[in-house]
Amino acid sequence: MAAIGRFQKGDDIFYAKVVDGELFRLQGDVFGSPSYEKKAMPLKGVKTLTPVAPSKIIAVGLNYADHARETGKTLPKEPLFWLKAPTALIPDGAKIEIPFSNHRTDYEAELAIVIGRRVRNVTAAAAARYILGYTSAQDITDRTIQESEGQWARCKSFDTFTPLGPYIETKIDPHDLTIQLFQNGQLRQNSNTSQLIFNCFQLVSFISTNLTLLPGDVILTGTPSGIGPIESGDRLEVRIQGLTPLVNTVK
Ligand code: MG
Repeated sequence: MAAIGRFQKGDDIFYAKVVDGELFRLQGDVFGSPSYEKKAMPLKGVKTLTPVAPSKIIAVGLNYADHARETGKTLPKEPLFWLKAPTALIPDGAKIEIPFSNHRTDYEAELAIVIGRRVRNVTAAAAARYILGYTSAQDITDRTIQESEGQWARCKSFDTFTPLGPYIETKIDPHDLTIQLFQNGQLRQNSNTSQLIFNCFQLVSFISTNLTLLPGDVILTGTPSGIGPIESGDRLEVRIQGLTPLVNTVK
């Protein structure tokens, strides 16, 4: 395990490795070849931020066959992606805010890829070299707007609609991990990343043939079946095998 997080203490924003509830501050560039301070500092009293501040968030749709089936949509022949506003990001522990109480707003647990190096036109075979690591995310969606507009930018870009984190796991095989979402302790989504239609390396390759990915950019790889509505007071937990759980509440 090598979990790296971004933290704030006072005005000081910094990266650190997280080991057993202690932080080892990173020296150098998280996207370069960093080293870590030997002296630990306690996680307590330090604010956890989203693990990156990306130039863009790319979200992939209908990338689990079981989810495509439950929406009644046909499987895409190529990855279907759109952009989510970076201002929609919130860290672990922050509140998701529902903009319209008369709309249906849904949770969507997703594995997120964090890009480590600038990349354009890479093959799937070479894509792993451009990935810093993986973290947990939610692609919160105003389903009412999604269905009425047919465009996916607005319904998925409201402020607070992208919980991300808490940490980036840099040493993990992303393609055989259980992925689960718990709503108030009840298991709602339960799948495995081996069920991805386009795997992480194929996604980075395909997206990079369309646009340039920059260090810190985030790709949400799609949600499995079991999507459902959220309401005020809910506690939502994304549990992906090998990653620290991502927990957010709703207001
Ligand atoms: Mg999604």
